[in-house]
Amino acid sequence: MARLGSWIKAQAEGIYVEPADAWIDPSEPKSRAWVTHGHADHARGGHGAVLATPETLAIMATRYGPQSGQPIAYDETIRVGEVDVRFVPAGHVLGSAQIVMEHRGERIVVSGDYKRRPDPTCPCFVPVPCDVFVTEATFGLPVFRHPETGSEIDRLLHRLHSDPSRCVLVGAYALGKAQRIIMELRARGHHDPIYFHGAVERLNQLYQSFGIELGELRSATGATKAEMAGHIVIAPPSALNDRWSRRLPDPVTAMASGWMRIRQRARQRNIELPLIISDHADWDELTTTIRDLAPREVWITHGREEALKHWCMIHQIKACELNLVGYEDEDD
Ligand SMILES: [Zn+2]
Ligand SMILES: [Zn+2]
Repeated sequence: MARLGSWIKAQAEGIYVEPADAWIDPSEPKSRAWVTHGHADHARGGHGAVLATPETLAIMATRYGPQSGQPIAYDETIRVGEVDVRFVPAGHVLGSAQIVMEHRGERIVVSGDYKRRPDPTCPCFVPVPCDVFVTEATFGLPVFRHPETGSEIDRLLHRLHSDPSRCVLVGAYALGKAQRIIMELRARGHHDPIYFHGAVERLNQLYQSFGIELGELRSATGATKAEMAGHIVIAPPSALNDRWSRRLPDPVTAMASGWMRIRQRARQRNIELPLIISDHADWDELTTTIRDLAPREVWITHGREEALKHWCMIHQIKACELNLVGYEDEDD
């Protein structure tokens, strides 16, 4: 009998699904690409045909221009070559999906990036039992345990209210994290206007066009220091320490990222208020998910593979690492 999952192949530039002649999140242009979500390390331009959720296709269009894309709704199954393929929610960012594939009685799930905790900007991760689970492992070490999101948001609001002459500048990945922070603030009763950096604007509009109500947003461009005092300003992490931030009223520099668990990283970036808010599964979410899916094999990619591989071994699940290149979630 053939090796489990022998019909999909990990290549340096992505996962190749042979019986469909398709690539998952390829890092180089391919004639047929299945894209899990819109982050730049997964969704690249220049492919022939793209299969993705409507939200992901829209994100790709804002980045790369019109795509020859075929939209696939969550839970819709289509047949490509000899593979039945279905996209199910991954809970990572708007439109993010796991890819569920069935071929000759075997089911393989590719997680893409995912998390298990609720996110007001996208549907929750749906666990799909499978034979092979191809999982990300961005935070695949037991030291990575993300706190409750609400308590991190409360720390942010507490800091904001403690000095109304200053603003709090929050560094957040422009796709997903920025909009999630806004929604989490709204859920904690913060309905003041939130200022944003120009790099976040198009994605805010895109989220709003998909029905995510972000409340009152204002461009930081052209706003005075006096207007922004006592307010939250959201910018991509790259803008935190550059000239741009000089226009702000004595900003408290914050950053929302799973990496903020590591003090050294916060210090390197001069972050005064590190907020541990991630769009990736933490260690407990990774291991809980493997328990939930009960796969016969786990293939680990995209992060720190060793510890998770060891955990699988202890729990008598066969595991291996896939060495894909080009996936970086530095600011996530
Ligand atoms: Zn991602
Ligand atoms: Zn990623």
